[in-house]
Amino acid sequence: MSFIITTPLYYVNDKPHLGSVYTTIICDAIARYKRLVGEDVIFITGVDEHGLKIQRTANEKGVEPKIHCDEISEIFNVSWGNWNISFDKFIRTSSKNHELIVNEFYERVKASDDIYMGLQKGWYCVGCEEFKDNPENSSTYKCPIHQKNLEWKNEENLFFRLSKYQEQIERIINEPSFIEPLERRNEIINFVSRGLKDFSISRTNVSWGIQVPDFDKHTFYVWFDALLGYVSAISSDEKGCSLEKSINRGWPANIHLIGKDILRFHAVYWPAMLISAGMRVPKKVLGHGFLTREGQKMGKSLGNVLDPDLLISKYGNDPVRWYLIKDISLGSDGDFQDKRFVDIINNDLANTIGNLLNRTSSMSRKWFDNKVPNIEKISSENKLENFAKIAVENYIQKFNIYKLDLAANVVLNLAINTNLYLNENQPWMLIKEKNNLPIVKEIIYNVLESTRIIGLLLLPLLPELSSKINDQLGSIYKKEIPWEQQLRWGLLISNSCLPKPTPIINKLEYE
Ligand SMILES: [Zn+2]
Repeated sequence: MSFIITTPLYYVNDKPHLGSVYTTIICDAIARYKRLVGEDVIFITGVDEHGLKIQRTANEKGVEPKIHCDEISEIFNVSWGNWNISFDKFIRTSSKNHELIVNEFYERVKASDDIYMGLQKGWYCVGCEEFKDNPENSSTYKCPIHQKNLEWKNEENLFFRLSKYQEQIERIINEPSFIEPLERRNEIINFVSRGLKDFSISRTNVSWGIQVPDFDKHTFYVWFDALLGYVSAISSDEKGCSLEKSINRGWPANIHLIGKDILRFHAVYWPAMLISAGMRVPKKVLGHGFLTREGQKMGKSLGNVLDPDLLISKYGNDPVRWYLIKDISLGSDGDFQDKRFVDIINNDLANTIGNLLNRTSSMSRKWFDNKVPNIEKISSENKLENFAKIAVENYIQKFNIYKLDLAANVVLNLAINTNLYLNENQPWMLIKEKNNLPIVKEIIYNVLESTRIIGLLLLPLLPELSSKINDQLGSIYKKEIPWEQQLRWGLLISNSCLPKPTPIINKLEYE
């Protein structure tokens, strides 16, 4: 069985912003964790390339839309490389294979008698690419999100019979595991209770899109195009992508991780479309919150947009990952604060985890011939071993319900307790007395062993830091042995060599 996790297909109007980086990092951590526990993961990301906005952006640049899309899509690819994102599939909606899937899907939905021609009129925002509900109520015909003038549109569109699926959608969204968090689920239940309306799936006069079969002037509208990317991605590397191939390789998706602004499309429109096409609905739609900066909404007009490229070049990958994963409860809004960021990285990663490893490794090398001590006896009561066992259980439990912030805190707490254990036992005092040697060996061994487990638990969260911890302990992590087995206490090998310690993370300066 496959485990399929997806980011949204990002719109190629610009390079990735911090919000897209956040979504993608969370998916990456989940994908890495699922691989470690033995799942056959398909981690899907990609880009949504069609639509009027892209057509216009390309026109303004004086290039063909395809050229513009090639350029931005490459930027996304490079960016995910820089962020060390372990995606398996990168789907572009302008690809031939994707078009095959969209057409096949459309034929199935048409065969279910769920497509009809209707008239769509109203005020339209090009930025949102949607009709706005009640602009009469506002004095200016402006989009509340984009603050740009709306355009009056009156055109024939193809419609999807969403209203037919009212009861089925109600049943799906009432399953507690389908939409998370609860707040988001309630919003959707409210929305659906007001009655579902059919929605248009095509546009005329938008040439940059997938043409609707038998309707020359119509191209598919965003949701009947981009959402299908999750399906086409699965069999995109095969000759002749097809719905059947994607189904055989693991559809439905286990998790769609998305920003809360596109929840409705994923939790209502998409399941109805899939049912109509005779396909299974995704198992979970997880809507995360928005990111603000120093308590303020980020926006070009405010000039406070945080550039992820700048963050990565200034601080590196793992510090940003740690902050986004640990400081934001998945599902809630998050705030990026420079001072807080520096404090958290210095406290958690540099002082608590980095220092612990560094000083213990130094002591062990100094006292035990550059090696892990050779333990002679194990006392019956081992406080640290108990801590570590409980931490491993908690961590797995939190990760399984996607409470990544809590899982990160479990690791941090284990490191805090390990530091406490070291300070309580003071091996640097005990070593002065020769009789104490067996107990010193045991203390040092325990601390190093706890650090090994911390390193392993960090593997999905901070892959780079985890690998540095592993190197420092003599590269004992074995890919071929199940990760969970390696979390057992006592696997650090007595008398094995310890490489010369180097700082695994540098302290940051607050400017
Ligand atoms: Zn808008």
